[in-house]
Amino acid sequence: MTRPLLLGCIADDFTGATDLANNLVRAGMRVVQTIGVPAAPFDGGADAVVVALKSRTIPAEAAVAQSLAALQWLQAAGAEQIYFKYCSTFDSTPAGNIGPVTEALMDALGCDFTIATPAFPDNGRTVFKGHLFVGDALLSDSGMRHHPLTPMTDANLLRVMQAQCKRRVGLLDFATVARGPAAIRARIAALKAEGVGIAIVDAVTNADLMQLGLALDGMALVTAGSGVAIGLPQNWGIAPAAEAAALPPAQGLAAIVSGSCSTATNGQVTHFIRHGGAAFTLDPLRLAAGQDVVAEALAWAEARLGQAPVLIYSTAAPDAVGATQAALGTAQAGELVEQALAAIARGLVARGVGKLVVAGGETSGAVVQALGIDSLRIGGQIDPGVPWCAATLPGGGRLHITLKSGNFGTPDFFAKSLALLDAVAA
Ligand code: ADP
Repeated sequence: MTRPLLLGCIADDFTGATDLANNLVRAGMRVVQTIGVPAAPFDGGADAVVVALKSRTIPAEAAVAQSLAALQWLQAAGAEQIYFKYCSTFDSTPAGNIGPVTEALMDALGCDFTIATPAFPDNGRTVFKGHLFVGDALLSDSGMRHHPLTPMTDANLLRVMQAQCKRRVGLLDFATVARGPAAIRARIAALKAEGVGIAIVDAVTNADLMQLGLALDGMALVTAGSGVAIGLPQNWGIAPAAEAAALPPAQGLAAIVSGSCSTATNGQVTHFIRHGGAAFTLDPLRLAAGQDVVAEALAWAEARLGQAPVLIYSTAAPDAVGATQAALGTAQAGELVEQALAAIARGLVARGVGKLVVAGGETSGAVVQALGIDSLRIGGQIDPGVPWCAATLPGGGRLHITLKSGNFGTPDFFAKSLALLDAVAA
């Protein structure tokens, strides 16, 4: 029997989609993440689907169009509630895209009220009196004020959201949230009567998010970071359960492909090599010189894959990355490395790899695209925000893959993630 889709989610970027999916799985939902709007209709195999878009920093009209296409697919799947997921630092500009997408979804759903809150206390994102804190600092005092595309220079989310919206933006304050769902609903009714269409919601603890979740039962559209997701599954009688994270058994050989140059990933590469892991360094300058480093890496890997997991990495310290970027140009170096690592990932899978760890957000996007993966079943969490996933490949084969963005994961992430998969399979 086809089970109905409960929650339909639209995420404005790929790793943000995984973060949301991970929270829903931990709250007990069975979740599939799709890369873009799926071509095929919903097959009934999940409680929630997260459609991952790349709409955070594209022009607002394009973000609206993509989000509406995702909405149509989710509505055709019967989704009972829609969740628009954006960044926990509310990444946007006065031109959008959080406000325009929210209002377009409200129009399409005929919905006269929704909430907006990036609060996620577990990740250090709290909202108090409408102001967003990143750890102990106001958003406007955090590193986000220097973001190249979406500099966040105002922590007052009412002002930030109002600048992007036609509807009136109001506040559902901390004291109301703490009093629970009845008080929240009463305040929502009062805000609506005042002509407010979108309320920024305060939340400083997970308990706040659970109370808020109860009050959101039946609201057609919820807009938030990934935090609010922990409070929604309870409305369908769903509680945390290990089965939600169950994946089909993993098979095949194991490999790691790393294109992230973050501090955390540099530490993970060093840790893996120090503990005796087999590793191949991909040198962007050799790639740029036209040498067939991809074939070289795959020949190297083929000789070792049967014995232990192999690591192929371009990960480098900031000074080396800087030197490469100066020589090749930042964008060109990035593209060259991403395409090479993606081709290597495809070659590894063709050589029997069934368990693949990928480090780097952009690198992950390139790998997933090269492998032709269009959806992922979300499994158990390895480290906060990073789950194992299972994908069906275009040829019908199965791949277990984890996509680790930059600064996520403990130093032993590579070996730990693979050991976890083997432990589940045992
Ligand atoms: P993160 O999640 O850490 O930001 P990404 O994969 O999103 O990682 O981004 C890393 C970018 O750096 C990619 O575009 C990648 O191709 C590029 N890159 C990787 N290694 C190097 C290197 N050695 N020199 C220059 N650029 C690199």
